[in-house]
Amino acid sequence: MKIKFLGGCNEVGRSAILVDGKIILDYGLRPSDPPEIPLGNGSISPKTVIVSHAHLDHSGMVPSLMSHTGAPDVYMTSVTSDLTRLLGRDTIRVGRDQGFSFFREEDIRRMVEHTRTVAYGERLTLDGSLGEDYNLELCNAGHIPGSSTVYLKKESEDISLFYTGDIKTGVSRLMESASPCDFPASDILLIESTYYDREHRNRKELEREFIDSITETLDSGGNAIVPCFAVGRTQEIVMVLHSYGLTPYVDGMGLSVFSLFRNQPTFLKNAKALNDAFGDAQFVNSKRRKKALLEPSVIVTTAGMLNGGPVLYYLKKIREDPRSKVLLTGYQIEGTNGRRLVEEGCVVTDGEVVKVKTQVEQYDFSAHAGDSELKEIVSRFCRNGTEVVFAVHGEHTEEFAAWVRDNYGCNAIAPKIGEEFIIE
Ligand SMILES: [Zn+2]
Repeated sequence: MKIKFLGGCNEVGRSAILVDGKIILDYGLRPSDPPEIPLGNGSISPKTVIVSHAHLDHSGMVPSLMSHTGAPDVYMTSVTSDLTRLLGRDTIRVGRDQGFSFFREEDIRRMVEHTRTVAYGERLTLDGSLGEDYNLELCNAGHIPGSSTVYLKKESEDISLFYTGDIKTGVSRLMESASPCDFPASDILLIESTYYDREHRNRKELEREFIDSITETLDSGGNAIVPCFAVGRTQEIVMVLHSYGLTPYVDGMGLSVFSLFRNQPTFLKNAKALNDAFGDAQFVNSKRRKKALLEPSVIVTTAGMLNGGPVLYYLKKIREDPRSKVLLTGYQIEGTNGRRLVEEGCVVTDGEVVKVKTQVEQYDFSAHAGDSELKEIVSRFCRNGTEVVFAVHGEHTEEFAAWVRDNYGCNAIAPKIGEEFIIE
């Protein structure tokens, strides 16, 4: 089996892995300004695409693969399919404003036509245009609704790989966590490394601290701005706020994403709790933004890493207000406004550097496995016969691979972008 890494190696963003020159696992873009895309875009024409989940850094460039003659078959869960379509349209809109174009509406339409939705646990044989048989199975990855791990077995060589995508085995309000004991054993493991060497805080304590900080902001007469990814994080945070009796304003695409989730309740841990939380929230569009700031308020808004979206409007309005606060809710990728805000106290919007003097706090509502959870996954696979481990999707993949080698003695690699490996 040949595995070539086209992006998302020792970085978080633009995940793309080419198997045997014809199967693509994920095809994302890095949401920096301008966005970065996988290596060789435009020159590869896979026969099959498998999408782990609908975050832009894993699925954002899938429509661009449809431009070539003989569009590939696309395999993903039904929620991922709905979300990929929604996010694709948004990427076209954002590109119009920011001056980039990777695909057109017509490519999204072709992607929908070529999509085969897959249920968790369903074992499929991919043959068709591939010329040989591969078995595919997706399992719940616990990361966001519809997220999946990918098991792929090449029958002719009797060799299998397991790709975690983004995975969470700990608790959240939105998702049932992934269950590694249900994963099939595999010869090769490709594992994300986002939180290697970092543990997550206890979720209950974290929620309490987050809520206390917001309450304090409201009591002092300020606005609490909570930037969130539209997919997953917005819904999780609205559920957290609701459970503590707080009613937020919700602005941005998180509402459309909620509507998609509501239609596919089996992918949620507690559909009623999500519906109740959104039932009480107040929705804001561009005309009502001013009003949302007139009184002390909590505003949950996109984009989670501050690269565009209504959050920039709110930031500009509150940036001098000592009573107000920005509460980031997750990891901020290098090169994004979110990282800039944390490290330099400013954001860049419309080419202008905007100093933000208000307080900025960071809360780890991560939807990724923490250090000990990642190690537990590796341990389970190695005990079940995995001989090759690739550590990808993180800033410390070299260290993670070294840890695997030291502890399990198997061949563990931190691949670099453009590298290809032949595993026999
Ligand atoms: Zn993700």
